[in-house]
Amino acid sequence: TLSATSSKLTFSSQAKMSRPVQARRLEGVDKNIWVEFVKLADTYSTVNLGQGFPDFPPPDFLKEEFTRAFSGEKHMLHQYTRAFGHPPLVKILAQLFGKLLGRDLDPMTNVMVTVGAYQALFCCFQAFVDEGDEVIIIEPFFDCYEPMVKMAGGTPVFIPLRPKAPKDGKLMSSADWKLDPAELASKFSERTKAIVLNSPNNPLGKVFSREELELIADLCVKHDALCISDEVYEWLVYDGKEHVRIASLRGMWDRTVSIGSAGKTFSVTGWKVGWTVGPNRLLQHIRTVHQNSVYHCATAAQEVVAQGFQREFEHYGKPDSYFVQLPKEMQQKRDQLVQSLVAVGMKPIVPEGTYFLVADISEFKSDVPDVPNSDEPYDSRFAKWMVKNKGLAAIPLSAFYCGPHKNNYNSFIRFCFAKEEATLKAADDILQKWKLEKTTP
Ligand code: PMP
Repeated sequence: TLSATSSKLTFSSQAKMSRPVQARRLEGVDKNIWVEFVKLADTYSTVNLGQGFPDFPPPDFLKEEFTRAFSGEKHMLHQYTRAFGHPPLVKILAQLFGKLLGRDLDPMTNVMVTVGAYQALFCCFQAFVDEGDEVIIIEPFFDCYEPMVKMAGGTPVFIPLRPKAPKDGKLMSSADWKLDPAELASKFSERTKAIVLNSPNNPLGKVFSREELELIADLCVKHDALCISDEVYEWLVYDGKEHVRIASLRGMWDRTVSIGSAGKTFSVTGWKVGWTVGPNRLLQHIRTVHQNSVYHCATAAQEVVAQGFQREFEHYGKPDSYFVQLPKEMQQKRDQLVQSLVAVGMKPIVPEGTYFLVADISEFKSDVPDVPNSDEPYDSRFAKWMVKNKGLAAIPLSAFYCGPHKNNYNSFIRFCFAKEEATLKAADDILQKWKLEKTTP
């Protein structure tokens, strides 16, 4: 009968619906801060200093190469290229990083191109981390490290950078956030497969000193651990500070994968070109992950990035090098935002690198009262309130801590200052007006 048929149909569709569709490896990694905060910024912000991308154009020479690549005769740029990296790009990367690391690099085995630094990170965790392996992550950390380790079956082990306010009443610097050497040593064990290092660090802008890196390097060597070194902000270092590559330290080349991003290097985050540099004994496994997942990155974008690096290689260290000009301009933008924040009573932590700045919002707590026992960290509610009520988007620092630690540092927000003069001025206007409203009852 009709009713028997329809009840059968209902039953079978219900049976299908009740089967779990989600793989176990996705448990607990479904939330993503960027999805939520990018949507909030799109909906409410008039000034977006949240997500990290420049709103100014990339350098002219790169735009010209871009036009040439697309309008020229090289129609093969529209087709596949070598899976592990377009030959002109891996060649120039090997040349440049060979010079920076002081060793001969083979473009075919010591370099691999990825879909942004994001895919480079993903390849590393998939290639090296087994069930039961521990991976040490330094807090605050670029948020994707944790879910990527978990998806690979590993266990993240967190160690915080601990702040120590300067006594002289000076502004805090990202250098005042340090690892406790004994605490760091206590995190290493025979289960440790790798440590993730991010210098210059997102979100603090900390540039790890040579001594700090040597401490990490010695522990890696002692415990035979790998180092996944995320150096996407390698050119964005200020006040004459030096970016030290951990792969160049004693005993580290053989155990380090260095990761970079054309997005940050040339202010073209939308191109999603990244790379890994390291010994073949590590890169061969990264290639295995790549060939079985992404296989290939956009040829034309790789070609243009190769031209950009070729130009930079020829202008290396000269005043017209983009790697010299960009940090100079960014340092001015940093100082401008520091001034705006100080003027209104937010306490910035002056970053030594990157295009981020973390500020203490304790003085503004009266605007957004605390909700005791709330599941949501205070800074997250503050950032949401700020974008909805003031039109200014920033990211809560707690987003860069693991679940149990989210409330340890919850009165800070992160601003991105890789922005046009007009954007920074508009942010300043919002802050000044806010301050005025607070002081005039
Ligand atoms: N690592 C860090 C520390 C980052 O901040 C970012 C981008 N915000 C990435 C990796 C990802 O870089 P890409 O855009 O090249 O994938």
